[in-house]
Formats: sequence, structure tokens, C-alpha cells
Amino acid sequence: MELRIGNGYDVHALAEGLPMWLGGVRIPSETGFVAHSDGDVAIHALCDALLGALALGDIGHLFPDTSDEWKGIDSKILLGKVVALIQERGFRVGNVDVTIALQRPKLAPHIVLMRETLAPILGVSVDAVSVKATTTERLGFVGRGEGCEVWASAIVIKD
Ligand code: MG
Repeated sequence: MELRIGNGYDVHALAEGLPMWLGGVRIPSETGFVAHSDGDVAIHALCDALLGALALGDIGHLFPDTSDEWKGIDSKILLGKVVALIQERGFRVGNVDVTIALQRPKLAPHIVLMRETLAPILGVSVDAVSVKATTTERLGFVGRGEGCEVWASAIVIKD
């Protein structure tokens, strides 16, 4: 068995009147993410963790924001493509862990649905998908409500 680990990080700015997608779930919010895709910063960090595990680059390289092909795209589709790349190399996802830093809205009511949404795309059970949320106690750009910051870790396995 071969185990590989990866980590990912992403930030998106917030602006009023845009949809907020996080972890594949539409979050009721007065602000949303400025982005070329749907702006799902949690999925973007997760994609980079999975790509990092096999040294396959990053999503900015795979899905460039200069391409109309990815404009406004549902990030769940991008995640599915990343998982397919992992599988093409003989690996499967082991487990993932995602930490979202956002001042508001509170994400706790949405965490279970995020896990249930991501698990089938990753090809794992819900208990292999951890999503955690925190504020930054009003400190920094996250605390001022200017953006969202996400860290993700992933293990991939070749049996
Ligand atoms: Mg991004």
C-alpha cells in the first residue's frame, strides 16, 4: 500500500450581492465570493490538497481563470475531475480535512450537508470527510468580513 499526503490553501474576496458556495452547498448570505468559477473556496483548497498529494500541480494550472470553459463553473465538477485524475494514477481518496475561516454567516448549520455533498464526489463515506469552521475573532481580513480563507489536507491511497 502506498500513502500520499497533500495540503491546499485558498482565499476568495467577499462582495455583496454574489452567491456564496462553500463545500458544494449554497449558503444563505448577503455576501458571496468574487471568482471566475462559482467561487467555492473550500472545494478549491480541497482540490489543491488532492493534487498536492500526487504532485499534480494546482487547480489554477489545471483550470485557468483565463479560460471561458471554467467561467461560472460549479466547483463540484472541478473536484470530480481532480478525483478522476487521482484514480487514473491508481489512487483513491483516503480521508480529507477542511478548515474554513469565515467571520459570517455562521457555518455550523451547513457542515453536515457539506460533508454529505462532498463524500460521494470523493468516493468515500461521510465519516472520511471532515469540515470545520471557525471565525478569526474579528481579526485580519477574514475578521473584517473581506474574505474567506480555507486550508485542506488529504490522504490518497494506492492499495
Ligand atoms: Mg479559488
